[in-house]
Amino acid sequence: MEIAGGEPSDGKLLQAGDGTEFPRIVIVGAGISGLCLAIRLKQAGIHSFTILEKSDEVGGTWLDNSYPGCGCDVPSILYSYSFAPKCDWSRKFSPQSEILGYFRQCADRFDVRRHIRFDTSVTAASWDAESLQWRIETARGEELVADVFVSAVGQLSRPQVPPLEGLKSFAGPAFHSARWERDFEVAGRNIAVVGNGASAIQLIPQLAKRAKKVFIFQRSPNWIVHRHDYAYPRFVQAMFRWVPGVARLQRYWTYLAYESRILLYKRRSWLNNGFTWWARRSMLRKLPGHLQDHVIPRFPAGCKRVLLSNDYLECLHRENVQLVTEEIRRVVPDGIETDRGLTPVDSIVFATGFQANRFLYPMQITGRDNLDLDRLWQTRPRTYLGMMSPGFPNFFMLYGPNTNLGHNSIIFMVECQVNYLLRCVRALVRRGDQALEVRESVVEQFDRQLQDHLREKVWNGYVASWYKTPEGHIVNNWGGSTLAYWWMTRKPDWQAFQFAGRPSHSPTQTTASVA
Ligand code: NAP
Repeated sequence: MEIAGGEPSDGKLLQAGDGTEFPRIVIVGAGISGLCLAIRLKQAGIHSFTILEKSDEVGGTWLDNSYPGCGCDVPSILYSYSFAPKCDWSRKFSPQSEILGYFRQCADRFDVRRHIRFDTSVTAASWDAESLQWRIETARGEELVADVFVSAVGQLSRPQVPPLEGLKSFAGPAFHSARWERDFEVAGRNIAVVGNGASAIQLIPQLAKRAKKVFIFQRSPNWIVHRHDYAYPRFVQAMFRWVPGVARLQRYWTYLAYESRILLYKRRSWLNNGFTWWARRSMLRKLPGHLQDHVIPRFPAGCKRVLLSNDYLECLHRENVQLVTEEIRRVVPDGIETDRGLTPVDSIVFATGFQANRFLYPMQITGRDNLDLDRLWQTRPRTYLGMMSPGFPNFFMLYGPNTNLGHNSIIFMVECQVNYLLRCVRALVRRGDQALEVRESVVEQFDRQLQDHLREKVWNGYVASWYKTPEGHIVNNWGGSTLAYWWMTRKPDWQAFQFAGRPSHSPTQTTASVA
């Protein structure tokens, strides 16, 4: 068994992890939120943490998704940490390679890599009520002990491939968009893309440029509005970089502009009706007449994520692109069968999204009194701020349940959560306590308010989406503005917690800077 905290045991740097520091923190995932927490911990003088990362590099979703055309539909200016602004983005909406580059640079600049164990998947974590610590198991058979356990696996890390009949019999390559095969040669191929969501609409126009034919298997339509993308001129980049305050001002302005879009997502409101009308007009202008009925949704805009694109609807005009709206019956060795017959293809790309509703799975998280988190959340998760759950002391989630956004940058939410978590950790150190656990009554009250807000949103009802469980519970999205979330997380209400235990050290021995 190893003691978590500090550098990997196989590394040369062991000074922070001698096992006496409190709190020792284990973080799962070196994506946007895991890195953010790691950097902020270091800035706070807390070095006794280890990140366990299943891949061999940092970046999370931006590492996994490398399909042609992959990029961000949130403006670049919002897509950096507030404490590490990036001023030299090449475009208004950046491509994946640039975003991944940014997170890699952050890991280097803040010297976080030494805390990361790559190629390490966490299989289980359980709370030890005697020692008031978490015991974390990895797929390699290791066990780590930590005072604080943080999941930073996010919502979109496990690709979803539909269990289509006959899929195994398919003769050609078939893979998920988040597992792009680098040596996949597009030119001359007849490719089926299953799905027409956020990833598909970025991917399809790129495939269409080189493939012989692209068949889009659309199960249901999406609202797609124009993405006003452009390369930043040199002088704009120079202004962002050299003129004090310009980049920050642009960031604030863009943040507020995007923040105001939450108003469009109110169910049955004149703003949502107006938004839907405008989106419809915009799509009508771009689409070939014979496709309008198939491609323009009949449900209000915002029920599913509103997609941004300046080339997807345009590419439906191409002769080598064909939309298939009939349900997939089965896959056969040389194609896909629907009620209309066989569509002959030699490759299949599944742009079919992620297993977003089953949080933390397949990690088995066991809390106090043998509580099994996965079983507890079978119907839907109930948390406090999407971060904590009663029965699971010293356990935090970043980008957990009900913290996804349809209207603004997730980095803002993650920074709010990291700020909150840091305050909790500091409180433990300051008080000389070993554990904190959110009270059941606080979660109940929070959940009631959250459900009230969610009921008012356009995601409620209408159509299925990854924001919801098949039973219709909205489990992924935050119910309000990010400003409201910031307000709620700016400082903890200590009455919300029960504190327990006393570590065997004195607070002055810790490396944490005590607030
Ligand atoms: P998605 O938007 O949920 O799209 C999945 C697509 O696959 C949908 O069209 C869905 O149809 C279809 N599908 C799923 N199962 C199917 C089946 N059995 N048969 C036929 N079609 C099926 O997933 P995604 O494109 O991976 O994007 C997920 C999220 O990732 C986005 O909403 C966004 O938050 C994030 N993302 C962001 C960016 C970005 O630019 N920032 C880019 C990509 C992804 P239905 O609509 O009928 O379910």
